[in-house]
Amino acid sequence: MKYAQLYFDYNATTPCAKEVVDAMLPHFHEDFGNPSSSHHPYGWLAKRSVEDATASIAKSLEVAPSSLVYTSGATESINMVLKGVARKLQSKGKHIITTKAEHKAVLDTCIFLEEEGFEISYLDVESDGLISLEKLNKTLRPDTILVSILFANNETGVIQPLDDIAGKVHANGSLLFSDTTQALGKVAISEVLKKVDYACFSGHKVYGPKGIGLVYIKNNEDGDGLPSLIQGGGQQKRQRGGTINTPLIVGLAKAIALAFEQFDDEKNRIEKLRNKLEAGLLQIEMALSNSKSPKRLPNTVHISFPYVDGANLLIALSAQIAVSNGSACNSASVEPSHVLMAMGVERTLAYASLRLSIGRYTTDADIEKAIAIISEEVSKQRENNILWERRG
Ligand code: PLP
Repeated sequence: MKYAQLYFDYNATTPCAKEVVDAMLPHFHEDFGNPSSSHHPYGWLAKRSVEDATASIAKSLEVAPSSLVYTSGATESINMVLKGVARKLQSKGKHIITTKAEHKAVLDTCIFLEEEGFEISYLDVESDGLISLEKLNKTLRPDTILVSILFANNETGVIQPLDDIAGKVHANGSLLFSDTTQALGKVAISEVLKKVDYACFSGHKVYGPKGIGLVYIKNNEDGDGLPSLIQGGGQQKRQRGGTINTPLIVGLAKAIALAFEQFDDEKNRIEKLRNKLEAGLLQIEMALSNSKSPKRLPNTVHISFPYVDGANLLIALSAQIAVSNGSACNSASVEPSHVLMAMGVERTLAYASLRLSIGRYTTDADIEKAIAIISEEVSKQRENNILWERRG
């Protein structure tokens, strides 16, 4: 590791596993062919590598290989599904439902679609981060073409009841997309994929390379008719133009295979570490957890520390421990987390919050160090806060 720091930001990104790098390397220089070159062995070999990788991913996810389309990452996948469904079904209706606690990749795409004349309903979430099925039911309309609900929240780790949601959405004749980016490798996913029409994944969240992702399209054997975001070359059944990225696809397949091989042991190990971290941080006076739902990611802790300036805390911690106050994709923002705001957390408390996400290379010793460092820093910050002294 380059920095003398503890890494507690696995939801932002993960290191690419050594096994993944080893699997990719031959595809940069030796087996470098273009999978679409159909007249010579360089192309045939590359095509075979991509087909093997796709078969391996499909087996892990328990889906048909034809349901997988490669993209540059979850953001592109989200754009492809939301814009694609909107364009494909606009003659049926122009209403889309999502939640206020989605990742910005969904929310910003929804704003784009609003500018194109679509109507978006943004559902509130309850104080535990879950959506209300009753509110969803009331919001569904005959012209609702798509519902987009984040499966596992990247900030709080809270998991939505997609089973029940799918029942309501499909009974209304609407399609369901779920951003499943954070769930892959952390919680069981194959049953969820059976319920939704579309989902998405990203390599760099599962110890794979950056710049590769997937769209899952349930009924895609003969193509789903989803308009492509990127034209040119007709690759991937004309669903996403551009030369297929063999090395990154091989890396993604290796990363997913590793995650599934280690799934049970790793989930149990991480969950124990997460519980220890959370319990340790909740020992800090007045600390509050923002991950209140019993169903949540095993690796994520989100805690507010009243009477602490969150920005100062992050700056002070940055020399020793890599944590975040929300989504990395939104870290340039000086606004409090939109996810906490959607949950009704008070603004000053939302500012005073940390997300810690652990992973494959986190050890028990790291957890103890993190608790000690954060406890000390929170105390120091409070010593400088007159309101802490006067808190009564
Ligand atoms: N969706 C969720 C829930 C995420 O956590 C992220 C990454 O932070 C994304 C989408 C975007 O992923 P990518 O970096 O692959 O575009």
